[in-house]
Amino acid sequence: MTSSYITTTIPYVNARPHLGFALELVQADVLARYRRSRGERVRFQAGTDDNSLKNVLAAQAAGVGVQEFVDANAAAFTGLAGPLSLSVDDVIRTSSDPRHRAGVERLWRACAASGDLYRRHYEGLYCVGCEQFYPTEELDGGRCPDHGTVPDLVAEENWFFRLSRYAAPLRDLIADGTIRVEPAERRNEALTLIDGGLADFSVSRSTERARGWGIPVPGDPGQVIYVWFDALGNYLTALDYAGDGDDLARWWAGASRRVHLLGKGVLRFHAVYWPAMLLSAGEAVPTDIVVHGYLTDNGRKISKSGGAAADPYDLTAAYGTDAVRWWLLREVPRGADADFTVGRLVSRANDELANGLGNLVNRVIAMIHRYHGGHGPAVTASPPDAAVLDDAVASAPAAIAGALDDYDFRRATGAVWRITDEANRYVNRARPWELAKAGRDAELAAVLSALLRACLAIGTHLAPFLPDTAARITRQCTPDAAGLLPSPAPLYLRITPPS
Ligand SMILES: [Zn+2]
Repeated sequence: MTSSYITTTIPYVNARPHLGFALELVQADVLARYRRSRGERVRFQAGTDDNSLKNVLAAQAAGVGVQEFVDANAAAFTGLAGPLSLSVDDVIRTSSDPRHRAGVERLWRACAASGDLYRRHYEGLYCVGCEQFYPTEELDGGRCPDHGTVPDLVAEENWFFRLSRYAAPLRDLIADGTIRVEPAERRNEALTLIDGGLADFSVSRSTERARGWGIPVPGDPGQVIYVWFDALGNYLTALDYAGDGDDLARWWAGASRRVHLLGKGVLRFHAVYWPAMLLSAGEAVPTDIVVHGYLTDNGRKISKSGGAAADPYDLTAAYGTDAVRWWLLREVPRGADADFTVGRLVSRANDELANGLGNLVNRVIAMIHRYHGGHGPAVTASPPDAAVLDDAVASAPAAIAGALDDYDFRRATGAVWRITDEANRYVNRARPWELAKAGRDAELAAVLSALLRACLAIGTHLAPFLPDTAARITRQCTPDAAGLLPSPAPLYLRITPPS
């Protein structure tokens, strides 16, 4: 049986989550739900990165103990499962989950046993915001290109990972598609990084610089494992890598696909560092690295400090889970940035969910009650003028499968939307109320039947994207034991735009 291990990145918990991370969670959830609906075995894995230095600094700034601080913010991240309707199977927290520390220690020892870890003196410019060293030429006027801050000069003896050794095998794995990096421009970016030369990277820091927070280097307690080595390890440690148990065999080496979703800013870590670490440890590499862009607010990246406008808790509370999911899936182009405004979210929900979809289902069910006693007409032959609608229904499964195989969520929702659009056109074209008036009962039954089939298809195909709305559609279109459809109830209410 086909099986998928689907992961999101584990965010730093230095602040509460923002909508940009909700995008990644919702995309992963759609893939998980869709593949489960096709009979695949799926494990949807999420977590939080508690061990970074920036968490420590944020806790100190807040005047709170580090564990207390990361516990509170981690709860805000894992708590998103409810408001965003996520079907997460497992969550790992790197500071408190007993699977994690033991697993990272095993990963460290495996890389050490391959001869890939060594100590040397190092000096470099470190951005705590990024948790990485920057070569001078990658800085922007001496400042971090992402944070605009001046990096810290760090000079100390660290452990290094022999990344340079893996340049050739990594290049081959990405170039031949063994590791599929999507979209293609990100694949090219990864190849360019490799071709530019891979320098060994620091995988530890002094316990002093880490403020005593993080996982000590096995056998060298004066050093703490670098947060990216620690964090990337979560994809294995969550499968009980330390215990070498069934989960590891089933979901890592044994999975048909090992899919990592991530933002474009952490491509280097996932497409270069992580596969190299896996090769060193003798483990399978990921099959799919799926990269999304950033959400912006008037062109500026939305960040955790970006204000309340993009708080997924506030947005789902004010406008509903499905309005937020629909905007993320319908408006964000594949792999690219998208500008978020509440106004766009509201008009997308009103135009498509309330007017387009809600009105359609409501009209169809109301007409079946008015003209057909509430019984769904059992006519299988479609009227000839329903050909375009029938085609939208018939072609949806392949269109959705193809789009999701390309990780194109906008195209996938477009295939569901096409059924809605064609069904609304068909109502206006077939004019069932005139058929009823003229007593053309057989034609009326065929029209209503074609429309009910379309609504049922929407309920089915919408399920991975908008599970709550899809369940309501299916309920509304499914007859009870007596063959009666439920009375028409509004499916989706218009949202009043904020003033
Ligand atoms: Zn930075």
